[in-house]
Parts: sequence; structure tokens; C-alpha cells
Amino acid sequence: MAFFSPRKFSRFILTSLITIAIIFGTGISYANLPALGDPSFASYSSQQEKQLGLTFYRSLRANLKFVNDLQINAYLNALGNRLASHSDAAGNQFHFFMINSPTINAFAGPDAYIGVHSRLFIDADNESQLAGVLAHEIAHVAQHHLARQFARSGKSTAITLATMLAAILVGAQDPQAGQAILLTGLAGQQQSSLNFTRENEYEADRIGIGILTRSGINPRGMVQFFEKLLATSPANGMEYLRTHPLSANRVSEAKNRISKKTINYPRDSLDFEFAKARLIVLVSKQPKYYTHDINVEKGFLGQYQKALAFIRTNQANKAIPVLLLLQKNHKYLWIKLALAEAYTANQQDGKALALLRKLADLYPGYLPVTIAYTKSLLNNKKPERAVLLLKQQLQQNAHLLGQDYAIVYHALAQAYFANGQTSAALEATGNQYAREGYLELAIQQYNNALLQKNNSPSTIKRLQTIKNEIKQRVTRLKESM
Ligand SMILES: [Zn+2]
Repeated sequence: MAFFSPRKFSRFILTSLITIAIIFGTGISYANLPALGDPSFASYSSQQEKQLGLTFYRSLRANLKFVNDLQINAYLNALGNRLASHSDAAGNQFHFFMINSPTINAFAGPDAYIGVHSRLFIDADNESQLAGVLAHEIAHVAQHHLARQFARSGKSTAITLATMLAAILVGAQDPQAGQAILLTGLAGQQQSSLNFTRENEYEADRIGIGILTRSGINPRGMVQFFEKLLATSPANGMEYLRTHPLSANRVSEAKNRISKKTINYPRDSLDFEFAKARLIVLVSKQPKYYTHDINVEKGFLGQYQKALAFIRTNQANKAIPVLLLLQKNHKYLWIKLALAEAYTANQQDGKALALLRKLADLYPGYLPVTIAYTKSLLNNKKPERAVLLLKQQLQQNAHLLGQDYAIVYHALAQAYFANGQTSAALEATGNQYAREGYLELAIQQYNNALLQKNNSPSTIKRLQTIKNEIKQRVTRLKESM
């Protein structure tokens, strides 16, 4: 049974972005973009931008460490999408993700891919500071700053610039890997300038402040975070400053833009505090440090952190009493999910299942719960129920999924496989790959599914139809580039 792990293929497919250029042609030309200042970007092909975004994103995924925690990502996306819905780019599909990195940075790539470094999140004192950075990046997207750069670059193709952007971001973490991307030959010549211009930066601040205000988030957080960056040691903040030139002047201009009126903004959400507490333990190289009361804050967030640190250091048995005590007075989902995590890690699968069943009723469609529940069902040898649950997620709560479809299809494949439904498992994997943009691999999975015995005539028909649709997508992409 051939299950292809995306990781294994990542080296082959993703180490260099040039692959895409080889598969799909020579690259995309943005030469026909309207000139700067033209508000309409009608001629900008969304199909091309989508592929460019996927290319950019997959190159980062192949070369950088991501924070793959579903709860943290769900929080980041909820905050990011709330902001984006108050921007001129509302209605676009945004993708927010987190890189596990000790340096401070945030960036906007093609097709509204917005990355945040874990260190930036951890250094933010409150939600409005994090939101300030996100709003600034969303403004870069809404104002098409990157697309305009591509347009201005004349002869160079957009794919080259997307490669370069990825190489710069990767190179900051791992110079060798960054160099390798550049050496693919496409981008080597033109490493020069991919920074946004000073005008872009001022504009992103101005637009970002508007986004924050309309979202009901205090825009002062943005200025506070910039001031913090300027005051920080250059080594820590350098990456951000390099990609978004920041000056005292820019900060004071942003400050002046913020209304002097005292507006009572709602308090920052507790979710920010939970996500940050979780992230600190998750990315820590010494999680054991947080198992001691003296090293965590007083109060429930500190205790939550301590419990997570116990789980991370294989002492889930010690996490359980901490969390049981906590949840008596603090009815937060973060704490309940951590308790389920601790039960699972401590091999108390029955208790984990009972808790997660309740959570799934209370929070239908919330992906971190669905996936935890699915895994627990599989641990408890209930693959059929897991299949049902995931299908429900796909049918009833599809609108909540956004870019997370691939995660659900991956889990669905595992559930089908555990249930002995090989053809369905292969089909789900094919669907996962198609969602992630690995079209050739997806076709392969559909072929494998078609080779299985006992496919019903209607299954065969469906598999062939979808396979042909993906093939047509490949053809269209080749033609468009
Ligand atoms: Zn910027």
C-alpha cells in the first residue's frame, strides 16, 4: 500500500522552486500589470497568483521549521481573518502561519500568505501589538505592494522574485539553504532589492491603523510594538527592520495618525494569553524549566504552562492533577484540551475519549477539537466513528476550514486506512495533495485508488472524474505560464 508522505517528497519537490518552473513552464510574467497608482488590478490573474503563493509557501515549508500547533494556528488565523475582513482585501483567502524562529519577523508573500515568527508573537506584550503587526502585513497585501514590485521589476519574472523572497526568508534562518535556493539559477542574478519601499511602509502603517480601528482593536499597539523594535538590540529586531525599514520618523508619523480621542477599546482576548503561554513552552529548548512553579507566572496561565511542560517532558501523569484542579475554577477550552492531551499522553485513552466527545458536542467544527477527537477515536479502535466525524466536518463546517482542508483529508485518510478502506484512504490522500497544490502526486494517488479491487462502479466513475479534473488543472496551469 503506497502512502506517500509529503515530507519525503518535500526534499525532492520543494528544495528548489525551480521545479515548478520546469513542470509548468518558464515562469509568470507580470509585465502586463497596470502601472503603480492604478487601483484596478483586473488583469492580474488570480490563478497565477494562487500558484505563485503555493510555490512560495511550499518553499518555506520545505526549508523552515513551522509551528504546527492547531490551537495556536486557529487563534492566529481567527485574529488575522478578523483584521483582513476589515481591509480592502476582504473576501480574499488569507493564509496566516507561524515560523518557529528566535528572530523577530513578519512578512507578506504572494497570494496573501502572511508569516509570523514565533519570537515576534512571544515578544508582543498583548493582542493589540500582535494585531498591529498583522494589520501592517494585511495592508501590504491590500495595497498590492508585492505585486507592484513584481510589475516594476521589468524583465524578471514573478516566479523569480517569489523565489528570491523565499530565499531571503530562508537564508536568514539557514544561510546554506537560502543560498541553495538562489543557486537554482533563476534568482542568482538579482538579489538586489526586495524590500518594500519607504512609501510602501508609510502606506501600510496608515492603512493598518484604519484596519485596526475598524476591527475594534487599539491601534496604539502597533506603535508600541514598533517602539519596542527600535529599542531592542539590533541583532534581535534586524530581520524585521531589514524587510520593513523602520525609523523614528515612521513611528512618530504613525503615532500622529492615531486619533487623539480616547476610545474605549474592548480588552484584549484571553485567547492571546493562552496561545502565547502555549507557544512559549512549545518552542522552548528547555521545557523542563517551566515545570517549576518559580519559573512560571502566578495564576492559571502559569499553571497551564506548567502542565504543558510536564506533557512535553514525558510526565503527563504530573500534568493531570494540575489541569484537573485548574478546570474546577477556569472553564476554558484551552485547559480542557490540554487535559485530553495529558490523558492521551498518559495512555488513559478512555478518559481522553469521554472528554473529547463532550468537547466535540460543545464546539462543533472547531478543528483542534475535531482532530484531537479523531486521533482519540483511532486510539480507541473506533475508526468508523472517526470517518463519520471527519465527513461531517467536511460537509457541515466546510466554511470554517479555509486552508485547513488538507489537514482534515490527511486525518480522513488515516481513519479510512485504520478501517480497512484502502481505496477511500488513497482517494482522501489524493484530495489532500490536490488541496496542497501537489497535483502530480494527487493524480498518482487517484491512479492507485483506481487500481484497488472492489471499487464500485460509481466509485470508479467518481475517481476518474476527479482525476481528469486535476489533469485539466495541470494543463491549464501549463498554458497560463
Ligand atoms: Zn512593511
